[in-house]
Amino acid sequence: MEFIPNVHQIEDSFVNAYLIVTDRDLVLIDTGFSTNAKHIHAKIEELGFTTSDLKLILITHTDKDHVGGLSNLIRASNAKLYASRFEGEAIQKGEPSRPLIGKGLMKLIYRFTTPLSKFPPVTIDEFLSDGQVLEIAGGLRVIPTPGHTPEHIAFFLEEHEVLFAGDALRAPAGELHISSGANTWDEAKAIKSAKVLANLKPKIVCCGHGRVVFDAADKMPTK
Ligand SMILES: [Zn+2]
Repeated sequence: MEFIPNVHQIEDSFVNAYLIVTDRDLVLIDTGFSTNAKHIHAKIEELGFTTSDLKLILITHTDKDHVGGLSNLIRASNAKLYASRFEGEAIQKGEPSRPLIGKGLMKLIYRFTTPLSKFPPVTIDEFLSDGQVLEIAGGLRVIPTPGHTPEHIAFFLEEHEVLFAGDALRAPAGELHISSGANTWDEAKAIKSAKVLANLKPKIVCCGHGRVVFDAADKMPTK
């Protein structure tokens, strides 16, 4: 779905990736699982490009449902890969940036599923720093948002006031919620990060999971 000119949501049943068409090339934010890569290739072709036009992939955090498609897409495109340092180092090892521990039944589930959370390691081209503004579509700012994972980052497209929140927020039924529960590394930090995101007063919020949320400034959760 193209929700503003040149910015596309690439949905799968569970997770979203986002594609920005700049005046030069294509930039992808997160990849979804490895099985999502085919949807990304298809969207690129539908827009009249080829995968080799994909020049940059930005990653919000190192969970397999956000980085699983990396090795496929980088092999096919030669795109550069940027992430925060801590998350990027985990990407280079092919494993999540934090252990999934959980309580009760989730503890048992995670014990058996943790080996499945690994993915093919990929080399990072640049570690992003807090507040850095990338020269993409009028400026894409790196917003540190620890909580869901230790060095999770969000991206803010300044000209259009579009926030790519990764898993700092989720929008299952179009309502925004702060990352919480068993897969959240530090809930207190997640709430603090949500307040930072609320202060941006974004017009549109795009989460890793759920729908794109419009008129978002008054809908930003802070607790
Ligand atoms: Zn996640």
